[in-house]
Formats: sequence, C-alpha cells, structure tokens
Amino acid sequence: MSARRSAAELSRAIVSCRACPRLVAYREGVKPRASYASQPYWRKPVPGFGDLDGKLLVLGLAPASHGAERTGRIFTGDASSRFLVAALYSAGFANQPVSESRDDGLVYRGCYITAAVKCVPPGDKPTKEEFANCSPFLDAEVSLMPNLEGVLALGSLAFKAYVAHLARAGADVRGMVFGHGATYRIDGQPVVYACYHPSPRNTNTGKLTMPMLVGLLKRIRRDLRI
Ligand code: SF4
Repeated sequence: MSARRSAAELSRAIVSCRACPRLVAYREGVKPRASYASQPYWRKPVPGFGDLDGKLLVLGLAPASHGAERTGRIFTGDASSRFLVAALYSAGFANQPVSESRDDGLVYRGCYITAAVKCVPPGDKPTKEEFANCSPFLDAEVSLMPNLEGVLALGSLAFKAYVAHLARAGADVRGMVFGHGATYRIDGQPVVYACYHPSPRNTNTGKLTMPMLVGLLKRIRRDLRI
C-alpha cells in the first residue's frame, strides 16, 4: 500500500471515528454563531492537512468550535488560524496568509498541521481518556511523514501529547518541560519546539506576538535547512 493511499485511508478513518461519546455529542451539538447561521457546520473529526513529505509537523490541541469544527479543515476560519497561517506565510511555509475555508486555495509547503485530539472538546479540555483514544491517529500521521525532522507544539497540552507520543515510541522524555521557545533534541527523534498557542487569549494580550512566532518558525527553517 502506498503512503498516499495510507494517508487517504487514515483520513477516512479519522473522519468516521466515534470513539469518544462525550466529544461526539459535543461536536454534533455545537450551536452555530449568528454570523455563520447560513453555513453547515462540519461536526466531524478533523484530520490533519498539509505536506506529508515536509520536514515539519505543527501540532495543535484540537479543532475549535467555530473554526475547524465548522469548516472541516484544521486551523481554518477563526482568529487562531488567521494568526498562525499569517505567520506560516511570512516564514515561507504557506502560499497565502489566508485560511478561511477548505476551498480557499491554501497550500502548505514543507509542513503538515494536525491536532492531538481530532474533535472539539468542551472548554478546550480533552480528558486523559480522550487523548489516549485519539493518540493512534497522531502516531499514524507521524508514521506517514518520512522526512520529519521537527515538531512545533502549540501550547502546553499539545506539547504534552507529543511527549506522550515520544514515550510510546520508546524515547527518553525525562526533563521535557513546556516553555515558549524551548527546544529538545532527542536521539533518533525529530527536534521538538514549544510555542505558546496562537489563541486570542495569548495574541491579544501580547503573550505571543507575530514577530515571536515568525521568528521561531524562521529559526526552525534554519535548523532543519528547509
Ligand atoms: S477525539 Fe479522536 S478518538 Fe475521540 S471521537 Fe474524535 S477522532 Fe475519535
């Protein structure tokens, strides 16, 4: 089976998953915002998107209620997405600074973006069991990236989920602690970079600025020779 075929099959398996009853009920019950009332919401798990041949994996926590869980594409259609994709564009990882819908023409170059948990969780807080249920999908996505050399974890929970992935792979993860800009080089594994999540909570308060995120992405490009 080719890697591309595997990717399509994985995507289908993700989109049809109903393993977490609480998240299935929540994603199917999200009340549309008035401004999106005329649009159908996706209401299904959201698979990753981008360049599986890339060297960089960007890992978020989970789809947002009115972003990816509405549009059906990860980091699409909300404020966090706009901030992240504008930064990816500035750093040369995207063909455009816009991420609004699945047919907006966005193409990532050299990076693939996914979330540790593929369904929107209430309060952005998946349970331990939900992280565990979804972890085989993350493991499978990582296995489909033959050139993977770096992972950028957005926020402490995504970072923790990736550390758990490394632990499942047998890596020594002792001492790995989240901090913006923290970088971990572990034998036989991609370099891990930690970054504050580009949520309005962080970007509106200046905790994460555009120069900070673009600067980190450009450092990754240099490190990985992308
Ligand atoms: S979070 Fe993951 S494992 Fe749980 S229902 Fe969604 S896709 Fe399935």
